[in-house]
Amino acid sequence: MTLGSGDFPTDGHGWAELLPERRAGSPLKGEHRAAWAVIGAGVTGLACARRLGELHPDQDIVLLDARLADQSASGRNSGFAVAVSHFSGGFQADRMDDYRRVNRINQAGLDLLRAQVAKAAIDCQWREDGFIHTAADRLAIRECGHFLRYLEAMEIAHTPLDGAALEAQLGAALYQGGVHVHQGVLLQPAALVRGLADTLPANVRLHEQSPVLGIDKGAPLTLTLPGGTLRSDKLVLAVNHEAAKLGFLRRRLIGSTLSGSFTRVLSDDELASLGSLTEWGVLSLHGGGATVRLTADRRLCLRNAAEYHGGELLPDALLARRQAIHRAGFEKRFPQLAHVPFEYAWSGVEGISRNGTNFFGRQADNIYLAGGYSGSGVSRGTAFGTALADHASGNRSPLIEDCLASEPGAWIPPRPLLDIGAFFTVRSRFRGVGLDR
Ligand SMILES: Cc1cc2nc3c(=O)[nH]c(=O)nc-3n(C[C@H](O)[C@H](O)[C@H](O)COP(=O)(O)OP(=O)(O)OC[C@H]3O[C@@H](n4cnc5c(N)ncnc54)[C@H](O)[C@@H]3O)c2cc1C
Repeated sequence: MTLGSGDFPTDGHGWAELLPERRAGSPLKGEHRAAWAVIGAGVTGLACARRLGELHPDQDIVLLDARLADQSASGRNSGFAVAVSHFSGGFQADRMDDYRRVNRINQAGLDLLRAQVAKAAIDCQWREDGFIHTAADRLAIRECGHFLRYLEAMEIAHTPLDGAALEAQLGAALYQGGVHVHQGVLLQPAALVRGLADTLPANVRLHEQSPVLGIDKGAPLTLTLPGGTLRSDKLVLAVNHEAAKLGFLRRRLIGSTLSGSFTRVLSDDELASLGSLTEWGVLSLHGGGATVRLTADRRLCLRNAAEYHGGELLPDALLARRQAIHRAGFEKRFPQLAHVPFEYAWSGVEGISRNGTNFFGRQADNIYLAGGYSGSGVSRGTAFGTALADHASGNRSPLIEDCLASEPGAWIPPRPLLDIGAFFTVRSRFRGVGLDR
């Protein structure tokens, strides 16, 4: 398949639209040569390029993105930078080493992000007070029991909450129980990505709206773009589910499209009709349940739809239709705010594998890749991107070992079975979701 610029569509509905205008990196034009090329300026590519810049201060690193960096999944997610993962389906004592490994990666990414946000004074509504995991019905309450056992066994700081406490804190009577996990950060994802993109080391050059259409695997590697070519000695792919477009992980990683809506800014009275917390993030204990936030800029934001749409964003007409699902989830939780309109909806594509693994390591001579973290990539992608820069530079570290220990990706069948399988894989996450959607 020959790629063209049209293979990297985007739209103007994301978290970036809540921010002021920004001057983006110019598209790559003409012939270029660099020691390192990094494709993809989401959190993985940004972290990788930053670390490469630090490791090789005398070398040129070129970071390319097909779109504007803040329109990646990294700029469109729900803004939970996770320290503690929730492994659904029951606590298994014999998996504790793996739980610890994943949480070490999460924590490493969170620590890196915290340091970068502080150092560059990135204004991304960073709030470090953890999240609330909620259960709205019987199945989810059972999952809450598993989660509490896991938190206790792992000695992770948390506070169990009953329905009354949740209603008092959030203003939503829907939830029967839950738990506040103390670690974890809420942030504005597009503001984070912009801040990271605009404060890269001096030897890293970012070109946005620069899709890589082909890779010639000679020495040096040659990347073809609409406006020119880039020759590089080494290449890092940080392109998430779009790796398949460049011929990598075709049968291992696909894109699932998630969507949600934001309200307008709430008035003082509307805010007062919610609970005692002025900013919060809720993650459902059911994998298909809604992710809900009260943001620092006083909007409620709810994401409760997921589907297979060929790994692309939802077109405007479909997004408008999905608002009915977002609306139903919103009014069920906040009937006192049924009069508050949504200002707009957004969609984003997460990279998922059949067995929920992450991808890390060498793909071919001088080509490295990291990606595919489902709905948990903000801190993990930062850790993977940083570790990949070290790994590709020949360094060793415990973080690299943790990333390399990721389970291999399970095989995904070719089209049209892929489309059918992907459709059912994504749909299966809603099985038993009950009231939590
Ligand atoms: C709606 C939604 C909500 C989510 N919520 C959360 C959350 O709250 N917390 C969390 O931790 N995770 C969440 N996630 C997942 C998280 O956003 C991702 O795991 C993470 O952002 C992946 O980062 P990445 O850098 O690997 O990939 P991306 O952010 O997808 O970046 C990949 C980049 O590669 C570029 N690219 C692709 N192909 C090419 C090419 N050929 N040439 C040039 N550029 C190319 C793309 O344009 C893109 O900018 C969510 C995801 C979605 C969609």
